[in-house]
Amino acid sequence: MTSPEFTFELRVCQWAEQHWPPSRSVTASNGESDGAAPTNTNPERVLIARQLGTKHRRWDTIVIESDRQRLAERARFGSERLNSDLLHVVQNAPSEWVYYRDVLPDPGYPWRYVRDAIHVADDRGIIETRRQGNRIEIRRKWPYPDWVRRIVAIENKPDLDASAADSLSDQLQRDVALSLADEVWVATRTTGATVEPALLERLPIDVGILTVDRATERKSLDVTVAWHPRSLDSGGVGTRILDRPDGGAYDHSAAQFEYAGTDWKATKRLEIAERAYERGWRSYVETMRPDCRHFTLCCSAGDSLPWCQAKNQSQTSSECSGSCPSFEPEPPTWRTHGWPIEGGPGNGLKHLLDRQRERQRRY
Ligand code: SF4
Repeated sequence: MTSPEFTFELRVCQWAEQHWPPSRSVTASNGESDGAAPTNTNPERVLIARQLGTKHRRWDTIVIESDRQRLAERARFGSERLNSDLLHVVQNAPSEWVYYRDVLPDPGYPWRYVRDAIHVADDRGIIETRRQGNRIEIRRKWPYPDWVRRIVAIENKPDLDASAADSLSDQLQRDVALSLADEVWVATRTTGATVEPALLERLPIDVGILTVDRATERKSLDVTVAWHPRSLDSGGVGTRILDRPDGGAYDHSAAQFEYAGTDWKATKRLEIAERAYERGWRSYVETMRPDCRHFTLCCSAGDSLPWCQAKNQSQTSSECSGSCPSFEPEPPTWRTHGWPIEGGPGNGLKHLLDRQRERQRRY
């Protein structure tokens, strides 16, 4: 397989879901196999997602730290994300009936979009509306909870050689300067060297380093903290680095940057968390071909990793497509004869992943 990063990323997501934070499980084995709900009584909870961020920066893995109570309160608003328009409504909806323009802050864009959002929120059952003449009044059903305790970003670089570290270092410096996340980590493969090479690379000291054992597809995973991160000032003003000199002997240009205000950061963090809430990390299946007869889930090293029986290894999302030379659609007979889940095994796997995703939101 040409790109092991995809599988590595999924395994880091799986490990984080079961063992975050790393200080509590410096070395951990992820041998759970059926996706059963965790049974520990610790009220702290995490939601894991991947490939989310801002317009200019996407993180590989995102950990949303919350707790059982706050997740239960968020669950009342449904499993779909609340976009910025809906957040504007549910965060400001009053406990008593009020004409919406008297209670919602001026959105800074036409009110008709607010009305649209009110109708969507009403359809989704997350606020109540009524008409008084030609006025729409709104009332909240529940207060929108402050459910995001911390956001942690993990960059996955299984092979962190000097050149990968160089390009990663620039991105990480921008992450630290902006401080949109509360912590930033790099996850890399362990090499077994006395001093892990990642520690010798020029990564910002604010960034934590996790070393992960060689992520062979069916072997349990050990994760070690090689370097602890510094907590970032996610509630303060951030610095967005726009351009920086390359540092050559004749380069006297100045760095360009702008400030990212606290309101922008708070809004962006909540939007990211809402998207993470909806997608989780198992949404990878949506860009693959579970309807291929060779597609299955790897169960010996965890509950949800894709596995190609034709190639006898885990496949990447880019190769698992209709153009894959080994792609074979499920035979129509697999979808009949009492197959218990409508649509055949491929749909069955999608439903299984959906159920696991839902369980993580609610456990
Ligand atoms: S589409 Fe290709 S990579 Fe995906 S499961 Fe089928 S044979 Fe394997």
